[in-house]
Amino acid sequence: MADTLPILPLSAKVTALRGVGPVYATAFQEAGIETLRDLLWSLPYRYVDRGSVRPIGELDRWHNHATDRDLTTVIGTLKAIRQTTTRMQRMALVEAVVEDGTGSLRLVWFNQAYLTRVLRAGDRVLLFGNLALGRHGLEMRGPSVEVLGRGEEGEEDLWVRRFLPLYRKLGPILGRTRGRMVQDVLRRLHPPQDWLPSDLAKGLPSTMDALIRLHQPLDDSDPGDLEAGTTPGHRRLASEELFAFALGVALRRAGRLKRRGLVVPTSEALREKLRAYLPFHLTGAQRTAFKEIVGDLTSGGVMNRLLQGDVGSGKTLVAFLSMAMVAETGGQAALLAPTEVLARQHALTFQRLLGEESPRLQVLLGAMKAAEKRQAQARIASGEAHYVVGTHALFQESVSFDRLQLVVVDEQHRFGVKQREALKGKGGDPHWLVMSATPIPRSLALAVFGDLDQSVLDELPPGRQPITTRLFDPDDAERAWDLVERQLDAGHQAFVVSPAIDPQDETKVPLRDIQAMEGLLRGRFPGVSIAVVHGRLKTDELTLRMQAFVKGEARLLLATTVIEVGVDVPNASVMVVDHAERFGLSQLHQLRGRVGRGTARSHFLMISGSETERLKALVETQDGFRIAQRDLELRGPGEFFGTRQSGLPQFQVADLVRDRALLAKCREAADRTLAHGLSEAQMAWLRQEQARLRLAEIS
Ligand code: ADP
Ligand code: MG
Repeated sequence: MADTLPILPLSAKVTALRGVGPVYATAFQEAGIETLRDLLWSLPYRYVDRGSVRPIGELDRWHNHATDRDLTTVIGTLKAIRQTTTRMQRMALVEAVVEDGTGSLRLVWFNQAYLTRVLRAGDRVLLFGNLALGRHGLEMRGPSVEVLGRGEEGEEDLWVRRFLPLYRKLGPILGRTRGRMVQDVLRRLHPPQDWLPSDLAKGLPSTMDALIRLHQPLDDSDPGDLEAGTTPGHRRLASEELFAFALGVALRRAGRLKRRGLVVPTSEALREKLRAYLPFHLTGAQRTAFKEIVGDLTSGGVMNRLLQGDVGSGKTLVAFLSMAMVAETGGQAALLAPTEVLARQHALTFQRLLGEESPRLQVLLGAMKAAEKRQAQARIASGEAHYVVGTHALFQESVSFDRLQLVVVDEQHRFGVKQREALKGKGGDPHWLVMSATPIPRSLALAVFGDLDQSVLDELPPGRQPITTRLFDPDDAERAWDLVERQLDAGHQAFVVSPAIDPQDETKVPLRDIQAMEGLLRGRFPGVSIAVVHGRLKTDELTLRMQAFVKGEARLLLATTVIEVGVDVPNASVMVVDHAERFGLSQLHQLRGRVGRGTARSHFLMISGSETERLKALVETQDGFRIAQRDLELRGPGEFFGTRQSGLPQFQVADLVRDRALLAKCREAADRTLAHGLSEAQMAWLRQEQARLRLAEIS
């Protein structure tokens, strides 16, 4: 039968498949599956190793040895299924029995009444879940369930194999239905072309073979590799995605290098001038980074550089020097900060650095009065202002520059490639320096900022006070407050951070909110002036309260993470973070960087009753790059950036953490490929892949 059906290309629509009508088509579309290519690249979410399926008759014995977390798999036939309601809480309760010839097992699900519609007595099912001892003996509670066969239509051909691929249910499309479609497509598919250069493809199966192996794993596949997504088949598809990605980045970069940029004329006089601005000796890392920037600014190309470094490594000074290169040779340079508070702080720093030349600086903030703003804009447009500091928002308004030659973005991860492109319109083709607030692990930096050159500040300025980091159980929090009291008594200031309250996120864990914390602090530290800041305050009010703390009028600052963006208060010597488990490691490390900026020994205290293993990473190291890597491994790229970051590629198979070595290889291969020039066909393939991975357009 299958042999007589037409051969299908990857680009065929899923609607070309038998059985895919409008309802299925919509369900597929909602999951982003329109073509056979989309269908095949949506890999099974699990592979059941039949070798690990347990006979029901042996479960009793096995359960005695298993720990709570051990999940088990059984396969059998459903004997009975019915729905009742629990007496106490009036919840839907679905009960069933499964039999496999060695014994039978009771199954229970709460609040999943729909199961009675999708499961029938007589179904051959695979169950995956936790065993528990109930009133009726051993039972499985809330297992995930897959129907393997019903009546005549079994999965005989799949069933003789060792590994059984499982697919997620998409609306009305059951996993096994999807599986059957995939098998059908694989039999009829016109083998796709292999796009990998031969050096990358070495030792890997062809694309077609990879697809077959991923949807029908060979019996001798390694179960661990299948689970981890590291079989040769996975590597093939991941390499293709990463290669397409790397090639796009390489093309963008090559395009940029061809553009002509302004050449900053250097001279002994300029060097003298810069030296005069410097309040202290640069660290070795600052010197290296600045040299790289000077190299860019004098190269004739357009600078596009990422400056990253640990909290407190002195990025601002490097940014200032770069801006001075331009501003002291007749150009204008602008610094964009992510918040008004931070913009004001940068302006203050610049004022100090510029000394009596500070009138050359112009600040531009959204909160300014209309008249004030107009005046500022006029000074920028006329070229009177050589140094400009403002927030992102302003640069989206109608601000024009006389001769903008350098833009520094204090990034905070909120700026994707697209926004950068949009800003380019502001003044010809200025040089770009992007500063990242926290260290970004290398693989992720390559993924998000791959088209930028990189400078890294991996050294802290001398004289930094060590920060003692400690983790307290909530029952033990009094010891943390004692420490705060001692610091306040010694004349220092203190930060207390409360997690932001997200109404969507009302979990079972009772959360102490910022009001409750304020109450606690006022009771615990009577007579101490406390400033409370959170995201719901108006900008003016927020700035006012923040300034009170910066000036020392408020001794204790209670805040949600708004302070993360970088207040510099050297007199603050202690920070307490409540519910530390709510924060990412990098975020905590960033917060920790707010103390230890003065001459006093400083303390970073976390209060948390859970996830203590994870949080211990902060106690163990102060190295922001190591913490960032750990954070990335634990939470994945999306969460690492805190938001669904624009510009993060949407890989279907590749994983930036798992495949980082592969990415490095693909980048090298991309450079080599580009050196030979791309064929029309390669270019067409690349465009398609870029669209599929939702990468920024290649020009
Ligand atoms: P970050 O990299 O976190 O933005 P900053 O630029 O805010 O760090 O610098 C942190 C602190 O270190 C600032 O108070 C700054 O004045 C100081 N600093 C920067 N460079 C040096 C240096 N070379 N020597 C001494 N202190 C420095
Ligand atoms: Mg900074």
